[in-house]
Amino acid sequence: MSASVNNQLLSNLEKNFQEVDNGLSKQEALEEASRCLYCYDAPCIQACPTGIDIPSFIKKIASGNVKGSAKTIMMENPVGASCSRVCPTEELCEGSCVLNHSTKPIMIGNLQRYATDWAMKNEQALFKAGQKNGKTVAIVGGGPAGLSAARELALLGYQVTIFEAEKEAGGLNTYGIVSFRLPQAVSFWEVDQVKSLDVEIRTNTRVGVDVSADELIQNYDAVVFAIGMASVPHIGIEGEDAEGVLDAIEFVKETKSGTLSEQYIGKKIAVIGAGNTAIDAATCSVRLGAENVSIVYRRTAEEMTAYPFEFEFAKQEGVEFKWLTSPKKIISDASGNVTGLECIKMKLGEPSEDGRRRPIEVEGSEFILEVDAVIRAIGQSRYINLIEQFGLKHSDGVVDINNDSYQTSNEKVFACGDVIFGQGQGEAMVVSAAQQGKLVAYHIHKQETILASETA
Ligand code: SF4
Repeated sequence: MSASVNNQLLSNLEKNFQEVDNGLSKQEALEEASRCLYCYDAPCIQACPTGIDIPSFIKKIASGNVKGSAKTIMMENPVGASCSRVCPTEELCEGSCVLNHSTKPIMIGNLQRYATDWAMKNEQALFKAGQKNGKTVAIVGGGPAGLSAARELALLGYQVTIFEAEKEAGGLNTYGIVSFRLPQAVSFWEVDQVKSLDVEIRTNTRVGVDVSADELIQNYDAVVFAIGMASVPHIGIEGEDAEGVLDAIEFVKETKSGTLSEQYIGKKIAVIGAGNTAIDAATCSVRLGAENVSIVYRRTAEEMTAYPFEFEFAKQEGVEFKWLTSPKKIISDASGNVTGLECIKMKLGEPSEDGRRRPIEVEGSEFILEVDAVIRAIGQSRYINLIEQFGLKHSDGVVDINNDSYQTSNEKVFACGDVIFGQGQGEAMVVSAAQQGKLVAYHIHKQETILASETA
């Protein structure tokens, strides 16, 4: 391939990864804001996990106070710009809008994006750090939960240091959600908002390797444990070591880090799993030029965990869904490259403990899907080793917490975000992580205030 053809291909791929939605124009935003009824006791506020005063921010857009609107949003949700793009709004605020009963709900997500985009474009630092109170907090993990806790603690006057293993902070928003729905620039702006409050972010710093758990526990007044989840586990089928078997999280991360490869153009790709990460891996594959992309899932659309809007988006992108299909074996050629995926058809049996009907193999229904790559997207494993270095009680990597205070088995350590999600505990949404981060900050402040009054 000549250099100019190659450059053209890469430039086309870059366009594919630009944000799909341009957002509302000023006129559209004003018209939409003017439809809001500014309800008393507004149900949209109740439905927002971070409790954003939605009628208030919409009113500020209508009156031309866009900075004030962005402040109202970001005050309650430190990752409110990202959430305006990735929240399942139809299940949350927009789903509860009173206008569902008459016309159509207010486009709350789009208005939230309009206001925060304005603040981003105008480089507005929205908040000021509180007066220092002499207390220090270490935060392990600079994703949505960690950033949210940091922002709130900085406003309360704490000296906060975030320890982040990656090159950049932002976690899932920076590396895990596809660029065409959430560009990195949005996440970086939220990180900058937190940094502007004198929060130190030590990137490329792995707790447990570069700095020990004990050091943090000894040297800080409190620790926020917001480490998220780890890589995608192996499926446990034959042939998984072949060239062309990929981890969905790493696959999406590479596209977000600007490494767009032309190697998938014209290829056939199977994605195993049907959660939001599986959809992201599948739509990324389409935009990397794959000829055919299939999601292979052992249950049906009813049981899939991806948000409905993600499912719709994947269908629009041309992703095929192979329901009631389970992978049995990855087939590769003599050079070790993937050439096929042996699957078996399934049927649904009795419900299992989680309430979902158990998939059962249909004997003799094996078939082979011809593919060039297989992407694993069957959930995420846990950083059990790090949890144990902190000596925290956990259940299979889900850290045990006091549900009121988010305090772990170590009274100086508070946990939030994905590390407490699972086994019927917590929520997987970015907006829930943001809220948990805020609550952790308030509980630390309450504990420190009590300690200060006892020693006074
Ligand atoms: Fe506006 Fe709908 Fe919220 Fe009422 S429920 S305040 S109409 S967005």
